[in-house]
Amino acid sequence: MSSPLPQLVNTLGQDLKRRHGQRVHKIAIHAGFTCPNRDGSKGRGGCTFCNNNSFSPHARQGRSVAEQIAAGRSVIRRRTGAERFIAYFQAYTNTYADVDQLARLYREALEAPGVIGLSIGTRPDCVPPPVLDLLAAHQEQGREIWLELGLQSSFDETLQRVNRGHGFTEYAEAVRAARARGLRVCTHLIIGLPGETAQHAMTTLKRVIDLGVDGLKLHPLHVVKGTRLANQWRHGEYQPWSLARYIETAADLIEATPPEVVYHRLTGTASPSILLAPAWCARKWQVIDGIANLLQQRGSRQGNRLDTLH
Ligand code: SF4
Repeated sequence: MSSPLPQLVNTLGQDLKRRHGQRVHKIAIHAGFTCPNRDGSKGRGGCTFCNNNSFSPHARQGRSVAEQIAAGRSVIRRRTGAERFIAYFQAYTNTYADVDQLARLYREALEAPGVIGLSIGTRPDCVPPPVLDLLAAHQEQGREIWLELGLQSSFDETLQRVNRGHGFTEYAEAVRAARARGLRVCTHLIIGLPGETAQHAMTTLKRVIDLGVDGLKLHPLHVVKGTRLANQWRHGEYQPWSLARYIETAADLIEATPPEVVYHRLTGTASPSILLAPAWCARKWQVIDGIANLLQQRGSRQGNRLDTLH
């Protein structure tokens, strides 16, 4: 039985197919960047939940961008038949380098066969004007460009608690600067951050939508090895959310999201070798199907409850 999800949520797959006339898939790349929240320039130790081994297992440092794209392309083509791809600079902070180096890496990706655009994952405090200008120039040449900003929460107390090293103000400035250049922004939100409830997630969504956003990624907070959150969880200081609570909150957020906003992701997984809790995070399709089934049971879909935000 096929998933009812595409009828209920404006997913990235559908959005790309509509605009490009064929399937377009993302290929995750690890381009060897680090993160200013790890090397001391913004902070040390990184976000309390971050272990970068939880990024795509297929993208590995040590291989060139072109090599990683070639490897990802052959896997995805075999699996899906797709011939068009977006190079997704995923691991760490993918704007954290000299703009000339960024230009070289992005160009290397865009010159790879079948690549029609870029998705650049980064922090809101790491997108200076020259980087945005570089991305806008590619977009003006007809490339599909997404700037993926990790916000996680709009509450500064929460951001401090998880050692993000930036606040909501930096996010608002980055969004305004990117959208003023016509760049599409996809914002990453984490549900279940320490001290947060479903109401926090709804308020964050409202603030993000009020500022203007083109895409969203939802992610449950999971506890992975090698993080400060793992210690807090072991000491009983952090309690992961249940699957039912996550599904209900995600469905509420989707109903409150305008239909034109594109959902890039509704959940996240980590490799079994590092995932500590909650165990349901490993079962991506159980989560996605659970959200779709709940929306269906409610007779609802994305954008049906925009009043929740007012
Ligand atoms: S989650 Fe992102 S910003 Fe935070 S430490 Fe990891 S790479 Fe850096």
